[in-house]
This record gives sequence, C-alpha cells and structure tokens, in this order.
Amino acid sequence: MREAFTIGGVSIKPGKQSQVDLPIPNLYTHDPMSCPVYVIHGRNAGPTLFLSGAIHGDEINGVEIIRRVLRHKSVNHIHGTLVAVPVVNIFGFIAQKRYLPDRRDLNRSFPGSESGSLAGRVANMFLREIVSKCTHGIDLHTAAIHRDNFPQIRAVLENPEVARMARAFKSPVILNTAIVDGTLRKSAEKLGIPVIVYEAGEALRFDEVAIRAGVKGIILVMRELGMLAASKKSSTDTREPFEARSSTWVRAPKSGILRANKTLGLRVAKGEYLGVISDPFGEDEEIVRASAEGIIIGRTNIPLVNEGEALFHIARFAYSEETGEPVEDYPKIMDMAEELKPSTEQQKIQSSDS
Ligand SMILES: [Zn+2]
Repeated sequence: MREAFTIGGVSIKPGKQSQVDLPIPNLYTHDPMSCPVYVIHGRNAGPTLFLSGAIHGDEINGVEIIRRVLRHKSVNHIHGTLVAVPVVNIFGFIAQKRYLPDRRDLNRSFPGSESGSLAGRVANMFLREIVSKCTHGIDLHTAAIHRDNFPQIRAVLENPEVARMARAFKSPVILNTAIVDGTLRKSAEKLGIPVIVYEAGEALRFDEVAIRAGVKGIILVMRELGMLAASKKSSTDTREPFEARSSTWVRAPKSGILRANKTLGLRVAKGEYLGVISDPFGEDEEIVRASAEGIIIGRTNIPLVNEGEALFHIARFAYSEETGEPVEDYPKIMDMAEELKPSTEQQKIQSSDS
C-alpha cells in the first residue's frame, strides 16, 4: 500500500481525492486568504505531477485547462499523484492583474523566502508545499495582456526528462531557450524537478483552441509518464513539434496604426510582408517585414503602436551548416500548425482592408 500524501497538514490516503486550502497572507481587509489545491492521490505508485495556473494573475486559460483535466474521467484512476493548483497568484487573479499588489512578478520571485516580500513569500510557499513534493511539473501561461501566443512549449531540451515531457505534449512549437532567473522553472531545475511551460492564448481571455490543445497535451504527458494507460488506439500521429533554438521580436519601425496581415502559426520568410504602419489617414506608410524565417508564435492585438514596440514574435528556423537548408521538416510542422490556426473568420477580421 502506498503512503498517504501530505500537503498543508492534510493527509490524503491512496485512492482518495481532496481539496486543500494552503494559507497565504491575509487581505488588508482582515479577510483570510488561501490558495486552493486539488490532489488526486492514486492507489498505485507513479510520478507526482503538479499543474500550475495563473502564476501571472491575469493568465486565465490555465485555470480552465486544469478544470477540464480534473473533469477528465481517466484521472480518477491515475498511477501516482496529481497536484492541481489552478490559481497560484490569488492576489493578481482577484485584481485581474499579472503582478502581486507589491507590483512584483511572481515568476521572477522564486525561490523567495518566508521573510521576504509578499511575492517572495507566495513563491516560497508554492515551492515548499507543492513543487518540492512533486517529481514533475507543467506550468500554464498565456501571452501578456493585449498579446496572443500560438500554442507552444518552453523547455530546456538538454534535460532528457524535460525533453520527454515537452515532446509528448505535441504542441506544434517547442521553444528551447535558457531559463530566466527567478522563475518557477529555474527553482524547480535546481531541485532536480523537470518542469515544462505551456504558453498559449491571451491574458484575460478564454481561447478555446489554446485550452483544448493544453488539456490534450497534459493528458498525453500523463500517458508518457505512465500515470495514465496508453491510448488503445495506436497513434498514427508521427508528427514532431518544431523545435526552435531561438526567437526574435519584430518591432515597430515607427509609431502609428498597424494593419497586421499575418496570423499566429503562419510560416514566414525573411523579409516577408507582415503588415503596414501608417498615420490615421493611411498616409506615410511603412511596411513591417519579418526579420527572420520561422513561425509566428506571438503577436500584439493592439493596432496602436509606438516605435520600438514588439509586434510579432517569430520562432526562428535553424539551418544546416553543410547544405544551408533548414534542418526542420516544414510540411510536418505546418500540418500541425494548421490544426491550431485561428478560424478563417478570425483571419478575415484581422487582414481585411490591409
Ligand atoms: Zn505568464
């Protein structure tokens, strides 16, 4: 028989599920605050996986993704333990803001400490009560406010266990870049706990495509880790995600009103037309061009731009040194990207009268 799983002073027996409220600093109204956690402690041994949402308080797709994963029939019979934290940054979530009331970014405040800033204390509580008790983790994010992200995984593929999770998720793009200091991912890495980040959609919006791809990805990772039985249907999907080693932001060459011509998930060539910036009368136009060949994985949703503002985020293709040809298989990538592209209706709205 497995041992009970203890969290926040609550002991959960194998085969049981429970919601636990972890105490966090009170509101200044004197109202008590807590961070709700849902634990499914399987009867059989296996990995302990945490799912975290809304570390940035306005990034709410992850909250819905976690709700749907917990509703998935199969998770009642997992091997191992699922620790779901839909809203890590409760303060930001209440205020519908990315940050905490002390204006700190929770995902730059790890590992934090018990005597540190408010953000540092919340980070430290999360690390102590959740991350350190898990063997694996998936952290769910969206683009910042007024920006949109194409479904993508951020992961350091040099770590084999991270790579296994990242590839199992089957998002069309994996951005394999160094981890920023102060992030949950950095602290987890130091503890030897593999964590991948899923980025998709926009802050303060539910994006159905991003949510579905997230739920599916988590289930696939749980199958890969042996927490769920492999699908009975043998998968014919041999497509591999596009693994980008770098990305670049195309910035506004001047201030003005942007008529964007390209949507998320599109492949663009270097120098390709992405949109045009002009004054309100359409005069004084300047074309925005792709600074690299790759896939558009992020973009701004506000057409009013100041010179230097980030407009399009491109995951760059890598080239073979010998042949000068791209090392990735374009058709496979684009096929995967196609499924997750916004509907033609959405595209029409974005590109009309361009
Ligand atoms: Zn975020």
